[in-house]
Amino acid sequence: MSQRVLIVGAGPGGLATALLLAKAGLEVTVVEKQPRVGGRTSVIEGDGYRFDLGPTFFLYPQILEEIFAEVGRDLHREVPMKRLDPQYRLIFGAGGELRCTSDIEQMVAEIAKLAPRDAPQFRKFMADNRVKLAKFAPCLQSPFPGWTSLLQARLLAVLPFLKPWKSLHAELAGYFRDPRLQLAFTFQSKYLGMSPFQCPSLFSILSYLEYEHGIWHPIGGCNALSTGMARVAAELGVTFRLNEPVEELLFDGRRAVGARTAQGELRADAVVVNADFGHAMTTLVPNRLRRKWSDATIARKRFSCSTFMLYLGIEGHYDQLAHHNIYVAENYRQNLDDIEHRHVLSEDPSFYVENPSRTDETMAPPGHSALYVLLPVSHQHSNINWSQERVRYREVALRQLAKLGLADVERRIRFERLVTPDEWEHKVGTYRGATFNLAHNLGQMLHRRPWNRFEEFQRMYLVGGGTHPGSGLPVIFESARIGARLLLEDLA
Ligand SMILES: Cc1cc2nc3c(=O)[nH]c(=O)nc-3n(C[C@H](O)[C@H](O)[C@H](O)COP(=O)(O)OP(=O)(O)OC[C@H]3O[C@@H](n4cnc5c(N)ncnc54)[C@H](O)[C@@H]3O)c2cc1C
Repeated sequence: MSQRVLIVGAGPGGLATALLLAKAGLEVTVVEKQPRVGGRTSVIEGDGYRFDLGPTFFLYPQILEEIFAEVGRDLHREVPMKRLDPQYRLIFGAGGELRCTSDIEQMVAEIAKLAPRDAPQFRKFMADNRVKLAKFAPCLQSPFPGWTSLLQARLLAVLPFLKPWKSLHAELAGYFRDPRLQLAFTFQSKYLGMSPFQCPSLFSILSYLEYEHGIWHPIGGCNALSTGMARVAAELGVTFRLNEPVEELLFDGRRAVGARTAQGELRADAVVVNADFGHAMTTLVPNRLRRKWSDATIARKRFSCSTFMLYLGIEGHYDQLAHHNIYVAENYRQNLDDIEHRHVLSEDPSFYVENPSRTDETMAPPGHSALYVLLPVSHQHSNINWSQERVRYREVALRQLAKLGLADVERRIRFERLVTPDEWEHKVGTYRGATFNLAHNLGQMLHRRPWNRFEEFQRMYLVGGGTHPGSGLPVIFESARIGARLLLEDLA
């Protein structure tokens, strides 16, 4: 009889793991508390509009392409997608804008319009980061069970690039003098929920990845990646139990043996946890059983920011919007300080608007558009009471949209959904509403993140944004590859 694996959570990490384990011949069951798959990478639908709940930027499809190839499928056939050009439009509160393209010649010309002296530096930035990513890739692809992992020869090569004393912003200031360009190549740290002034310099590889490998839009949105993975997984024999929250994980001594739901006990030879790490540990595993990751230890960790979201179905189109549009607040440093240190709401916040109907007609009815508006805000903190702030901050968000020329947006709204950090925490199940999980400071990366072969229990594996390598779809798919590999080694 084949061995049974239970995967808790049908987020991207859980789904990619299910594909790999089913292909290896295991009997795989995915148990998911929501009525649909995808977790934070799922969909909001209503009145003919479609919105991604979370991710809208799909970077570096190579890892998922390889996972699909491993199970005998072609990612681009299963989930059609387009590479975006321009990749995004950056609008600076301090004045000026940049249409960012992965056409290197054209990008140099774009930069020259803003800061002529800085333009030649773009090629150097790309060349340096090409080397950096090549050195760092083995770290992303390997498990990190302890600091000694860093001593493996191929991983030692990354040490000169870690520069723990240097922030991402300081690194980019070494390339570009214009502060707007420094931001244009560092705001990507927000993908990790971090400020570029705190984020390790290592993460300059994020903006490099965008220009080298492109930003992709799966047709129907990034949620199509989740439904595509789930469809193929079901074809490979994976069982999905949706609408069935796990209430407790089950142990025999220090070995994970399954989970209990309202329907009964689900026994397994191994358990993969894809649910948000902090949320899963503090709600599904009794504190007394955890030696390293107690409730108190988790509470002391640093967490990413959260997001305030508006999903707006709009009558008509806004031709001035690109697919992705990012407004960088005039006082960006103050805005980040409000989010990360003061835990208050900014009155001139940076924000991001996705206008996917520009590329993809499946996102809204004809003659309409679906706008996704994201404002980075503090994770849950006693300074902010969202039941009081939600209506007021909606006004702030709509007012900010006027900065992109959307002054009449309110009267054109035909569908609306609003998500605050409260909903991320209590409805979606994200510890402290920290949408991008544990922060990615060097003290919480590599062996200092919860391990993929979870150090607390035998036969328990972690995949998703809360474990190594980190948050963001490409590395989440890498966590699935690492987790599946370790599990298969152990069961063999
Ligand atoms: C607003 C936002 C924007 C983002 N933008 C991007 C982006 O543009 N690009 C990018 O690469 N990344 C982005 N991310 C980050 C990241 O890619 C996503 O959050 C991703 O969905 C995380 O995947 P995951 O595998 O960790 O699991 P999750 O998506 O967190 O899924 C975990 C699953 O576990 C389930 N679960 C939880 N508890 C239980 C339980 N008790 N029983 C059963 N099931 C349970 C949940 O319902 C959920 O389905 C964004 C995230 C957010 C929130």
